Amino acid sequence: MKYSELVKVYKEIASTSKTLEKTKILAEFLKKLKKEKNKDIIYLLRGKVFPDYDERELGISTQLTIKALNKSTGHSAKEIVKRFKKLGDLGKVAEELVKEKKQKTLSSSKLTCEKILQNLRKLAEITGAGTVERRISLISELLTSSSPLEARYLTRTILGNLRVGIGEGILRDAIVLSCLETKENLEKRFSGLQKSERLKKISAETKENAELVQEAYDKANDFALVFEQACKKKLKDVAISTEKPLKVMLFQKAKDFEEAFKRVGKPAAFEFKYDGFRMLIHKDSKGVRIFTRRLDNVSNQFPDVVFYIKKHVKGRSFILDSEAIGYDPKTKKYKPFQSISQRIKRKYDIEKLVKELPIEVNVFDILYYNGKSLLKEPFKKRRALLRKIIKNKKYHLKLAEQITTSSEKDAEKFFRQAVKEGQEGVMAKNLEAPYKPGSRVGYGVKIKGEENEFDLVIVKAEYGTGKRAGWLTSFTVACKSGDKLLEVGKVSTGLKEKEEMGLSYRGMSKKLKSLIKTEKGREVEIKPKLVVTVTYQNIQKSPKYASGFALRFPRFTRLRPDRSPDDIATLNEIKKEYEATH
Ligand code: ATP
Repeated sequence: MKYSELVKVYKEIASTSKTLEKTKILAEFLKKLKKEKNKDIIYLLRGKVFPDYDERELGISTQLTIKALNKSTGHSAKEIVKRFKKLGDLGKVAEELVKEKKQKTLSSSKLTCEKILQNLRKLAEITGAGTVERRISLISELLTSSSPLEARYLTRTILGNLRVGIGEGILRDAIVLSCLETKENLEKRFSGLQKSERLKKISAETKENAELVQEAYDKANDFALVFEQACKKKLKDVAISTEKPLKVMLFQKAKDFEEAFKRVGKPAAFEFKYDGFRMLIHKDSKGVRIFTRRLDNVSNQFPDVVFYIKKHVKGRSFILDSEAIGYDPKTKKYKPFQSISQRIKRKYDIEKLVKELPIEVNVFDILYYNGKSLLKEPFKKRRALLRKIIKNKKYHLKLAEQITTSSEKDAEKFFRQAVKEGQEGVMAKNLEAPYKPGSRVGYGVKIKGEENEFDLVIVKAEYGTGKRAGWLTSFTVACKSGDKLLEVGKVSTGLKEKEEMGLSYRGMSKKLKSLIKTEKGREVEIKPKLVVTVTYQNIQKSPKYASGFALRFPRFTRLRPDRSPDDIATLNEIKKEYEATH
């Protein structure tokens, strides 16, 4: 497929802010893609070349892209940097440069999506001597055969910043429209019914289809596979496997035990809500692999867990869901998440870190066992299986603490015990519920102590002055609404002068500087990647921020390297919290 066809879609989509319009444009494109052999082209729609479960990255810096532009257009790096400073978008610079060059040569573009996938995938794989030169060649080969507009989007794709606005939700709905049933078809099918009945049926069926696609996606995290299965009307065949990570099930919140029982039924299972980070553990003939909830493979960082799994869990193949918590190696007291968060990212001195910051794995669910998916089995059966296959070993790996009760009193006692042991609260779980990957469903609810907090993403920052000049000291945070990020406030407290678990001005500045998109005076725009937990006193309505709300007295309490912008608070959650407290 010609890249120009894709670029046309980018352009059309970027020119409308209406979700429905975007979905329709995409659906038309997908109808064309149906006829193509290589369905991986679908990844390019969102500026990617690998499926979402795949964590390979292109790893191409602005500097290297400038070198490739220099090679393909003949403009000096100095000139390119000058234009970059003016336009703030290397994609637009590439477009300008190619336009100027093409006026001289007048060749037409023959760039294909397949060629782009091929070259960009190579970028992620090259290592060893001559890496930089080979990378520059691969990129400039593509740029040389691009039209100006193609150069714009290609450059942005290479830099991992396509900025077209095609989110997971829109792509899902476009798959429904292009492969399952369009509204027109449904209208026809239900044309014999009265209007209100007809509308109800159409809406129910549309929703059901969207859910089918979403469910398949949450299991596979691969749009090419989901698209292919949707075209064949075989979405239900998409299964989980130990080969790739899947999205974890998320829970809702209950304010007290009465509400908890109402939501999950009686009797219910209560478990400690451990204050650590989620770990999905896969084991099969290839070994043990560990994933975070943002699907990052962190197996190398946790050789201790790999060892515990082999030693304490019976079974040929399985997928476990668990929470890892840290403890002090001397006193054996459990520690809050923040104190062990560095174990997730650290790539060196691993053995030393394993000793200094040991963790205990608390297994609370099992999704797959010896070749069979357990997603549809009731929770009580899954838990019973866990009891059979896990040999509890405190401070290494064990089953999550659990009681089954119908009594609020017992549940409260259990809650106090959890808090006393340094945990965040408890989870109440429905004993009969299946496991639904990727959804925030009411099969379980969390009950925490008094506290107001949201996970948000940093979208802007400001340089400090005086003693803090050169450091970023004030940060604008955003929640999400569909595919949009909406600002909810500015945070400038909670950071320390000295290095302390990454939450210092220096630590934060270091992390954010590599994510800067544009700079204007002291203000910088940041790629929305860094997720933080922000606590606040209350929520106010505010026209100042795009969300319409502002958090009062916000304070950073945690960095969340284990979370992605997909995990942040939604506008709806903020609205609900506002309504509950006003
Ligand atoms: P929070 O910020 O409160 O941890 P969240 O948005 O990460 O919430 P929720 O699904 O709302 O996720 O809350 C459950 C989280 O609590 C899980 O993601 C998991 O990391 C953690 N957790 C700790 N103990 C348990 C447990 N026994 N069962 C399920 N989740 C647990």
